[in-house]
Amino acid sequence: MKVVLQNLTKKFPNRNKKIKDDVVAVDDFTFEIPDGKLIGLLGPSGCGKSTTLHLLSGLQEPTCGKIFFGDEDVTDLPAEHRGVGLVFQNYALYPHLTVEKNIMFPLRNRRGADKLTKQQMREKALEAAKLVQLEELMDRKPSELSGGQQQRVAIARALVKMPKILLLDEPLSNLDARLRLQTREEIRRIQRSTGITTVFVTHDQEEAMSISDLIVVMKEGRVHQIGKPQAVYDDPVNLFVAQFLGTPPINVFEGEIKGEKLYIGGAAVLEVSGVADQPVYAGVRPEGFTVAENGALCCGLTEVEVMGRDITVVASHESFLGEEIRAIVSADNDLEGQKQVRFDLKPGKVHLFAKDTQQRIRFGG
Ligand code: ADP
Ligand code: MG
Repeated sequence: MKVVLQNLTKKFPNRNKKIKDDVVAVDDFTFEIPDGKLIGLLGPSGCGKSTTLHLLSGLQEPTCGKIFFGDEDVTDLPAEHRGVGLVFQNYALYPHLTVEKNIMFPLRNRRGADKLTKQQMREKALEAAKLVQLEELMDRKPSELSGGQQQRVAIARALVKMPKILLLDEPLSNLDARLRLQTREEIRRIQRSTGITTVFVTHDQEEAMSISDLIVVMKEGRVHQIGKPQAVYDDPVNLFVAQFLGTPPINVFEGEIKGEKLYIGGAAVLEVSGVADQPVYAGVRPEGFTVAENGALCCGLTEVEVMGRDITVVASHESFLGEEIRAIVSADNDLEGQKQVRFDLKPGKVHLFAKDTQQRIRFGG
């Protein structure tokens, strides 16, 4: 089922008496979540991700704006009638109940015509358990499960009502690194096999990039960019988005445009046709450097980290704005014993941003 957010806004009264303005947790969100897709809501802590999920689920009411599930306006529909499955970060299973009973729990309070027999509940629980490959563990208690298995119980519990929409709020953050990887692949598999429209919230860009059909990059209650993960990475609209996506992060230099050339620290390092003279931030992706004997960008060489096929060149430059430049180049480059390294830049991997607005400035053809 497709989901539409229309001018969706949520304000909270500010508890700090010195500040009069409300906290705008979600500011005028307008976008569509296509049917059957997995979309990642991505942004730093406090940017309004959980609030957006609460609005979609009906646990909170918007200050203004509308929500549609398909063509139906659900803005005023109570949570229990929205057909939404929710999984939170601390997925709080009932410790005294078995896996089966935990999964069945949301079915128990059905009344009237919807009321299910014990047998029907068990069948539905088994169906949901199969989706997350837990059917062998139905008689265990949560304390007898690994973290990843517990999280799968929480997902099965959200799936047992066959929700139209699945909402996952940082579902992996309580798992260790290896389980996080496994479980995110599991979530992707479950989402594909059920075709349930899913919203996945995370502050981890790698997590969002790896499993989402679309990502929504947010900051301070505002949507900055929506798109396919690779498209947003390749074509960020502003400095924030460029810096938020990618590991190692984009390398940002202070630069200057003069005569359609990018200067970094006095050296002309790149042709940038069509850009007016102005001060800029120049962001270079780690894979945007090539080591070249006569390269225009001359950096201090701090160290070389071997990664096998590639090496990471850790370097410094007076116009660099972060702690250290990290360039990923082919391991064929031999930099042993050198104090300096010279780079050429790949135009497609360099992004320019206006110094005042931090909006992207495009160049070339
Ligand atoms: P995220 O999930 O992205 O970390 P949240 O949606 O939880 O962010 O919060 C967004 C903003 O709204 C934060 O500034 C937070 O302090 C504020 N906020 C969230 N819930 C409430 C509430 N019930 N009352 C007041 N402020 C809130
Ligand atoms: Mg949150």
